[in-house]
Amino acid sequence: MHKGDIFFRNWLARQRMQTLGWIQHLKKTLQVIPVRCTSLLPPQYHSARTVAKTAVTVANGVTESTARAAKVTSLGLRDQHCPSASMSTRAEPGKSGKGQQGRIIYTLEAARDHCWPDNQEGPRRLTCVKDVLPATSEEVQRVHDPAYVQWLAETVREGVPKVVADPEIPEEVTYVTSTSYDDALQAAGSAMRLVDEVAAASTSGSEGHQCPVGFAIVRPPGHHSGVDSASGFCLLNNVAIAARHAQHQHGLRKVLILDFDVHCGNGTVDIFAQDPDVLVIDMHETDVWPHTGRIDQTGEGKGRGATIDIPLPTGSGQWAAEHVFDSVIASAARRFKPDILLVSAGYDAHWRDPLAGLNFQSATYHLLAGKLQSLAQELCGGRLVFVLEGGYSSEGLASSVAETFLGLLGTPPAHALDSSVPEEPKAAVQQLIADLRELHAL
Ligand SMILES: [Zn+2]
Repeated sequence: MHKGDIFFRNWLARQRMQTLGWIQHLKKTLQVIPVRCTSLLPPQYHSARTVAKTAVTVANGVTESTARAAKVTSLGLRDQHCPSASMSTRAEPGKSGKGQQGRIIYTLEAARDHCWPDNQEGPRRLTCVKDVLPATSEEVQRVHDPAYVQWLAETVREGVPKVVADPEIPEEVTYVTSTSYDDALQAAGSAMRLVDEVAAASTSGSEGHQCPVGFAIVRPPGHHSGVDSASGFCLLNNVAIAARHAQHQHGLRKVLILDFDVHCGNGTVDIFAQDPDVLVIDMHETDVWPHTGRIDQTGEGKGRGATIDIPLPTGSGQWAAEHVFDSVIASAARRFKPDILLVSAGYDAHWRDPLAGLNFQSATYHLLAGKLQSLAQELCGGRLVFVLEGGYSSEGLASSVAETFLGLLGTPPAHALDSSVPEEPKAAVQQLIADLRELHAL
């Protein structure tokens, strides 16, 4: 039994200004995470072997320099065993343990501006690795209107940075640049490839094998993008495209999408409103942008009942998350019996986040990750893929993603609950839970 294998791909998009800040913070935070670190790049990514030496592997109790030295070895991919990272807190850094069948963790930064005409050493060496990953227009059009996809591609082709939606607040417009279309395809494709990996691993494992969990750290985010619309920083709906991919490519007909971003994932809700095979559970703060996701939005037509909107009262935090999960989300999931569980993992419900008013803590995401993994193991062979959505406090985002990994690894949280976070509106949350259970007959 290999507890808590994780693999993820981290594609730093070309617009690095915002991303790099929190990625760097995340890297730092991740240095304390114990990672079962066996290399296992799937065959189609073997071209990544040379690139992998630039990657970051993190290990429990390993100093940064040791981790750096180890990562080259661990990512050498000679076999499926990693001699570097400790699998338990007692293992010594740099020594391998038996049965360490983990996954690598790596980042990729193509340094697109570090280039020289016709030089052998250029960003192409790394972008070629990414070339295998983008979603195709056919895959995207399982979700989006072809005319919208064409409009997006053409708008980007004009090469001029442009506001395409939400012009009201200068810092919160939805924009495109000359690379946005490719970046959006890349983000969707990354989520899809993790579905491929998880689907393959869940059917090929021996008894006692635990399916790895996928986490696509991608941008631009996706859950506000509808069939024919860009909105809320989102251009293509990554999680929706991954859901359709799971159905079409792997026969995983019943998909559960849990969205715990602080904003209602209105794009995702709308896309699957009439689809009984995709249960969308959306936990968000009530009465914030985009001002959708009322409790009585339960789906339409054949899809009625397959949307569960959970509008949490402002100020809700860990207590609310735990009780809503146990009393509503888990019950609905067990009744639905999904074939795969996808998570729209937005981290802007964190109390540090500037865009909304929920008070989740970093450790809250540890709790949710553990519960989601248990649920996936119980219901769908462990098939579980996280796709990053929002999160606009660098510190809150980095620590919360790190806590998600710790939760998936079965390792205690690194962040204690902060007692200075205000008291939660427990009575209102209890009422919400009662209303949801009655409405959805849970
Ligand atoms: Zn959000």
